[in-house]
Amino acid sequence: MRLWPQPQRHKDTKGMVQFLLCLFVSLWLYLVLPVAVSAQEAAPVNGGWPAGVQYTVQPGDTLLTVSLELGLDVEQTACLLSRSFAWEQPLVIGDTLTVPERPFLCHQVQPGETLSAIAARYATTPGEIVQDPWNTQGGRSVRHLRIPLADDLPLPPLAIGGELAITSPPSAPLPLPAHWPYGSGYFAWPIYGWLSQGFRTGHSALDIAAWTDTPVTAADRGVVIRAGWSDIGYGNFVIIDHKIDYITLYAHLSEILVSEGQVVAQGQLIGRVGSTGNSTGPHLHFEIRDFGRRVDPLGLLSR
Ligand SMILES: [Zn+2]
Repeated sequence: MRLWPQPQRHKDTKGMVQFLLCLFVSLWLYLVLPVAVSAQEAAPVNGGWPAGVQYTVQPGDTLLTVSLELGLDVEQTACLLSRSFAWEQPLVIGDTLTVPERPFLCHQVQPGETLSAIAARYATTPGEIVQDPWNTQGGRSVRHLRIPLADDLPLPPLAIGGELAITSPPSAPLPLPAHWPYGSGYFAWPIYGWLSQGFRTGHSALDIAAWTDTPVTAADRGVVIRAGWSDIGYGNFVIIDHKIDYITLYAHLSEILVSEGQVVAQGQLIGRVGSTGNSTGPHLHFEIRDFGRRVDPLGLLSR
């Protein structure tokens, strides 16, 4: 006859498992998530604007290659040259271009356009536009104008985990000739991770947090046009030209596994996640350019 009930081992084990599970989830929420969320560029000055950054034009440079080095859209880069710069005009080797302190958009002046019409279009005033001395320098020919941007734009809320967690694996490489350099136009996620910063004013890219050394793969087939170190904060970075007007950029890598001129397939390993350059933790800074302009990768990546 039992005087005392036997300890209920089964229930205890279950309780312990639940407790450990809870502990694990709590630890993950407290330790891992904040790391993932903070993994982005260091506190952006002027909303991430590369103020004061300089670039000296090298042989073979085009407006596009210069814009890639400066981290600006190709149109913005036109407003670092002269007001009268024409798109077909070659760059001058040895010219040093400096990014001004204040963020701007570069407006391509259309025939017959007036200053007040341009100002109205950007919800600014003619006075604000002519305050930038660049807009009044040089001769009478005006092809471009700098439109000052407010640098205190509100930031959208941070999107992490949940519905924006990345679940689709990179697609398998397409069966194409080994040196076929043209992309498909369909982009695969270059990495598994958490979105730690989305596309917004001053950050024309996605930041995807992941563990150090997580494999980074090419979002689409293309030719590596840049693989090396960036002085403007990208750290170790890779740029792939997909030859169909799209270019992708992968920054802050711990390791680069491709070289310039190499043709890479979609899903091919190109480097590993790191925190090199201007970065607060391991993450991939990923840009997609369409005709030289950075666009929101979320609109193009496969879901
Ligand atoms: Zn970034």
